[in-house]
Amino acid sequence: MTVQLIDPFQRPITYLRVSVTDRCDFRCVYCMSENMTFLPKKDLLSLEELDRLCSTFVGLGVEKLRITGGEPLVRRDILTFFRSMSRHLETGALKELTITTNGSQLERFAADLYAAGVRRVNVSLDTLDEDKFARVTRWGRLPQVLRGIDAAQAAGLRVKINAVALKGFNEDELFTLAEWCASRDIDLTFIEVMPMGDLGNEDRIGQYWALSDLRADLAARYTLTDLPERTGGPARYVRIEETGQKIGFITPLTHNFCESCNRVRVTCTGELFMCLGQEDNADLRAPLRNHPGDNAPLEQAIRQAIFRKPKGHDFDYSRQRADGQVSRHMSHTGG
Ligand code: SAM
Ligand code: SF4
Repeated sequence: MTVQLIDPFQRPITYLRVSVTDRCDFRCVYCMSENMTFLPKKDLLSLEELDRLCSTFVGLGVEKLRITGGEPLVRRDILTFFRSMSRHLETGALKELTITTNGSQLERFAADLYAAGVRRVNVSLDTLDEDKFARVTRWGRLPQVLRGIDAAQAAGLRVKINAVALKGFNEDELFTLAEWCASRDIDLTFIEVMPMGDLGNEDRIGQYWALSDLRADLAARYTLTDLPERTGGPARYVRIEETGQKIGFITPLTHNFCESCNRVRVTCTGELFMCLGQEDNADLRAPLRNHPGDNAPLEQAIRQAIFRKPKGHDFDYSRQRADGQVSRHMSHTGG
């Protein structure tokens, strides 16, 4: 029997997030610069390599797989990969196959994702105002995303909206967003903006809207009940009693929940990051490419890396500086 992945702090690693591309059809201001240089194709893991990599993790006890990017649905033939991964759902080894998307391509892909066994999708949406949406995503169009969300719900996918809390940008839409989600039976999670990527022209601290403040604003209007639900991630949840909906808070800055972290991330080039907020990583592409018929070197590289998983990240804005900043873009590691 294979021995499960356990890190030095006795945390079982059961959740893998995989970025399948660094490309995207949007250029969100907190994620990418307008002129991005993307990786040459030969550097990316092929769909076959991604399959082998994810299947190896499943063999080592990973039960939840989230596909992300860049924008995962712009990767050519990505459905082939989803269809192939569904075999692990059928055996029961994988409990959940899911995706984080900007929603731009969902209208086209929702039904096929459902057919491949996906049951939940996270859609990133920071505003319901068309002009503001165009500004924050630079290249995105809101109606296209809204049609994608409609298609996802029509296909039977459970939708969760992820909204980055941005000071002076969507503060005035807090209740509009919450009520729009409630009216459509969509869960909503807010994310604190993280100091990722050296974008130069963006002011990370100026954008930062602490979720403790956001929560206080919500509590001034609604009755909030803390929910015990934990996903091993940084999110904490409340229920709004008036609407019954669930609101999540991902607060890497105001609170640090690393002690229960059960996840690792792989980039589209096969770097394994043991923590989103630290630079240490392990190259999994070399053992994949150099040993096409032998999984032992890959498994060994994964185990050695998990042994180095750090206790937590060091993001900290409290000294009015973006301490603990990491230089890679979120689209590189996969948010
Ligand atoms: N393109 C897909 C999307 O937008 O959902 C998947 C990749 S995107 C990098 C994943 C998530 O990371 C999105 O919800 C996005 O809002 C979030 N994100 C990107 N940059 C961020 C930052 N600097 N701080 C916090 N969240 C960020
Ligand atoms: Fe693209 Fe997602 Fe980054 Fe926006 S957050 S630029 S949609 S990868």
